[in-house]
Amino acid sequence: MADRIAEEKIDQIRQTVDIVEIISDYVQLKKQGRNYFGLCPFHGESTPSFSVSPDKQIFHCFGCGAGGNVFSFLMELEGVTFQEAAIKLAQKVNIDLEINLSPALGEKKVSKELQAMYDAHELLRKFYHHLLVNTKEGQHALEYLLGRGFTRESIDKFQIGYSLNSWDFVYKFLSKRDFLPEWMEKAGLIIKRERDGTYFDRFRDRIMFPIFDRNGNTIAFSGRSLGLDEPKYLNSPETAIFNKSKILYNYHLAKPSIKKMQHAILFEGFADCIAAQRSGVENGIATMGTSLTDEHISLLRQSSQSVTICYDSDKAGIEAAFRAGNHLNDAGFQIKIAIMSDGMDPDEYIKKNGPEKFRNEVLGASLTWMAFKFLYFRRGKNLQIEGERLAYIEVIIKEISKLTKAVERDHYLRQLAAEFSLSLDALNQQQKQIFFAEKRLSKGKSEPKNKPILLTQPANKLKPAHYTAERCLIAHMLKNREIAYKVQDLLAGNSFNIDEHQAIITYLLGFYEDHLEPDSSAFLTYIQDDNLRRMIANIEMMSINEELSNQELTDYIKQVLNYPKLLMIKEKEAEQKEAERQSDFTKAAAIGIEIIRLRKSL
Ligand SMILES: [Zn+2]
Repeated sequence: MADRIAEEKIDQIRQTVDIVEIISDYVQLKKQGRNYFGLCPFHGESTPSFSVSPDKQIFHCFGCGAGGNVFSFLMELEGVTFQEAAIKLAQKVNIDLEINLSPALGEKKVSKELQAMYDAHELLRKFYHHLLVNTKEGQHALEYLLGRGFTRESIDKFQIGYSLNSWDFVYKFLSKRDFLPEWMEKAGLIIKRERDGTYFDRFRDRIMFPIFDRNGNTIAFSGRSLGLDEPKYLNSPETAIFNKSKILYNYHLAKPSIKKMQHAILFEGFADCIAAQRSGVENGIATMGTSLTDEHISLLRQSSQSVTICYDSDKAGIEAAFRAGNHLNDAGFQIKIAIMSDGMDPDEYIKKNGPEKFRNEVLGASLTWMAFKFLYFRRGKNLQIEGERLAYIEVIIKEISKLTKAVERDHYLRQLAAEFSLSLDALNQQQKQIFFAEKRLSKGKSEPKNKPILLTQPANKLKPAHYTAERCLIAHMLKNREIAYKVQDLLAGNSFNIDEHQAIITYLLGFYEDHLEPDSSAFLTYIQDDNLRRMIANIEMMSINEELSNQELTDYIKQVLNYPKLLMIKEKEAEQKEAERQSDFTKAAAIGIEIIRLRKSL
């Protein structure tokens, strides 16, 4: 067996894999004409400028310039090598690569130390789970969980376990299997004693909840105390493999449901997420005790743009929901907020009222983002007092002004009018005043966050003629082998003026030597340079005429060939002026003749 993937295999993968299908795993795509569009996974945006062409099997983002074929997509998004991307794709479409795979099958190459951290977590997860469900030592913990409403099914599903009441069990267990203690300490599994440099276990006599990354690798634990031991939840520290701001609990299990339902339920803690799952909520995910970050949002965006926030309904929870809601709203998500009575958290609520009520009366009765704001801004206000009431109404009108749909604005203004017995006309008036006042205020400020990125790049229109001509020629050359050779002939040994363009056509002519048909995706496999690949993807996405007329072709070539002459003329004109300044009129006249000759040749 070979170590490298054979060329034919790469071709086979490319021909079998569908780029739309692969990218759909990460980006929600919508068909529009021949192409698909979605929110770019490589830069934050709220208006889609990321496009995928099924015909050409390539992608391109008009916003940030990312572009390439299915291999480069995986390479850039997952940070893997070409070889690793190929292995991953081959597995998807069941192509046997007939090569020796390293043990980390197709996964991102990781250092020995990181791999040891993953392995130790994996081993402990299995062991803790075994202790909980199969052994006498874990029996009290199992009973405790069952007594609190956990089912055997959810214990298995979330791989819940138990850590022994021992100071050095894990230390010995891992050392015996040749794990270096320094690495296990860095992984947060054991702790070094200051006084004598010996080690002890971090988790003792606790119910162990493994934390998984998006690929289902165990990367940390949260240990819940069984009795009154503090803290109630003890978490792994942040390590090289565990970064709270990037992890959404249960994402690896919930992702298929989130995609199917096009909706996620976001919880504040993993206990709520598990309780909800027991109530039949399969699309639940949770942050790990941190506020929602940009990283969480981009992970979430890969499967849905619609979220119900179901945080604790106490004061802190409501504040956190308001912050998370604003963050998601700015990122272009559809948001709902679920609220529970008496300031409960989801786990408590389910225990007290049962799964059905939770699904119907909490999730089912979630508030729209605006309706939540109605509630949020009235907390702590006495609306019987005129001053407080007016201040409240003004804040709400301000919020209504931010809505982009006239129907929505109208709906909430009516609601406000009804509640406070106000005239709708007056509210409308006030809303418009506020709207324009805010607009004046924001003028001169930096661009608004949600400014849409135009699908066409106006910048290109300002580019010089030869630049555009070269791009148009390349676009046609990419589509038609004969035109490529024709352009080469017409250039008659001259090159394109833009170095990158010249590089692209050099590669392209090389490609056509052993490929009789144009193939955008195959050609991109050929290009090693990131920048060139992006440029090609960009040119591929240009809209050009199907046919290239002879007239058009000659015009483009002319633009290309004329550019160096125009530069030369400028240079000569400067020289001529200089000669005149020095009163060397003979020289100036000679230069003048040259200029005329050059002009004629244009
Ligand atoms: Zn982008």
